[in-house]
Amino acid sequence: MASIFTKIVQGEIPCHKIAENDNYFAFLDINPLTEGHTLVIPKKEVDYMFDLDDELLAGLHVFAKKVARALQKAVPCVRVGSCVMGLEVPHAHLHLIPFQMMSDMSFTNPKLNLTQDQLAEIAAKVRNHLDQ
Ligand code: 5GP
Repeated sequence: MASIFTKIVQGEIPCHKIAENDNYFAFLDINPLTEGHTLVIPKKEVDYMFDLDDELLAGLHVFAKKVARALQKAVPCVRVGSCVMGLEVPHAHLHLIPFQMMSDMSFTNPKLNLTQDQLAEIAAKVRNHLDQ
């Protein structure tokens, strides 16, 4: 069965998309730790990030770099952290998390409660900063 993230890539489940190319897809996390928390995934459905072949893994980080730079311009943060973390969705994903302080990156923190309109606004802001 297709993962929830494959369904997002295929448009069967809605998301707030940030960027896409032939191999990769980036979209806002529905339960963000901080404003702009984004997931970057390979379209190819592989459970664990470090099972990706070298080329796909390297390319994912190059793709994520563009997204992280846009995030840094679009939302208030000191840096954008990245991590491979989580057991919930069996489809490799990199979390990009804009942070002010290191504790912002803790997955035990309460999630932000953002409305769909707020998420849409953040996604639009980030997209506006891509390729700038
Ligand atoms: P993990 O596998 O990293 O524990 O959890 C997957 C991440 O995906 C979580 O941060 C969760 O909030 C996010 N997530 C789970 N389902 C959806 C969804 O349907 N849409 C979006 N945008 N994010 C999701």
